[in-house]
Amino acid sequence: MLKSGSTIGILGGGQLGRMMAASAAQLGYKCIVYAPEKDSVAAQVCNDFFANKYDDGPAIAAFAQQCDVVTWEFENVPVAPLTPIADRMAPHPRALETAQDRLAEKRFVEGLGGRCAAYQKVDSTHDLISATDRIGAPGILKTRRDGYDGKGQWRINSGRDAEGLNVPDVPTIYEGFVEFFAEFSVILVRGKDGEIRFWDSAQNVHTDGILATSTLPASAQVAAQLDEARKLAGDVAAALNYVGVLTCEFFATHEGPIFNEMAPRVHNSGHWTIEGAATSQFENHIRAICGLPLGDTATIAPRIVMENVIGKDAAKALDALQEADAHVHLYGKNQARDGRKMGHITRIGRD
Ligand code: AMP
Repeated sequence: MLKSGSTIGILGGGQLGRMMAASAAQLGYKCIVYAPEKDSVAAQVCNDFFANKYDDGPAIAAFAQQCDVVTWEFENVPVAPLTPIADRMAPHPRALETAQDRLAEKRFVEGLGGRCAAYQKVDSTHDLISATDRIGAPGILKTRRDGYDGKGQWRINSGRDAEGLNVPDVPTIYEGFVEFFAEFSVILVRGKDGEIRFWDSAQNVHTDGILATSTLPASAQVAAQLDEARKLAGDVAAALNYVGVLTCEFFATHEGPIFNEMAPRVHNSGHWTIEGAATSQFENHIRAICGLPLGDTATIAPRIVMENVIGKDAAKALDALQEADAHVHLYGKNQARDGRKMGHITRIGRD
């Protein structure tokens, strides 16, 4: 168990790190952020920061020297410089290795009995045409690495689109389009002793590939798929000997849950847990990596809606404070670019 006053290192400087640091501070820990930019929104609320590139091995080693445990909030950190400090990390970087490559991730999940959308590895226009022939269209071409919030994705509506598309010069994967009736995520926390706790699953709505809202309770049709999805997510965590919060995103289809992707970290669709659960995803992540007892994950209100504040909408986000049960979070970002997550609002329904 990490004693209070110890130092937690966070790789990544975004809002997830910012909210993680707030929970760490509540428990008496100090945080140091490691991110390439000097003015990261996580560093604004931390004790110290390293502004270095993620592939700078000596800087990563110097950072880890100052930390009792190192975790991450950003999953595209290269794994090689983390290998020498893996013993000090929670979760172990093997989780990053699996999650960073959509192909490796799908094979791993299928190996555990999970179902994914039909997919094929694509490295050329020829591969893409053969993938659309085999899997059919519509579908989505995705970069295998570094994609987030719908970036690095191209919708393919017909085989003709495939012929016309200049396949990007990076490894990609073609996925058949899943006819889902809802999207949901399973968020769990796993302790050092292997104990797993799940939060209730929100029903997620995405707009232009970006999460727009997470609503609880999820519909009865989604709730009927949770046992199967939780079983898979729990198996993923156990197979990785995972410590901390892990998220698996699913499509709810008439044939049952289809695994979309995992995020080996706290997740946007779990922001509602700050006010809506007995223990938030951020606090339980800190508890898990510090070897503290896990907190209760129970939902504490009958209806909860988390809405992301995107781009220019940030300017009016504080207006929501006039509502009795609205909780506004702003991430301290200076520039309100289109599609940028600036904050979120959680509305807690008391009845
Ligand atoms: P991703 O980055 O893979 O999570 O994709 C972002 C969003 O795009 C998902 O949450 C879905 O709304 C949509 N999407 C991604 N892949 C598929 C697919 N194979 N079929 C249907 N919709 C998809």
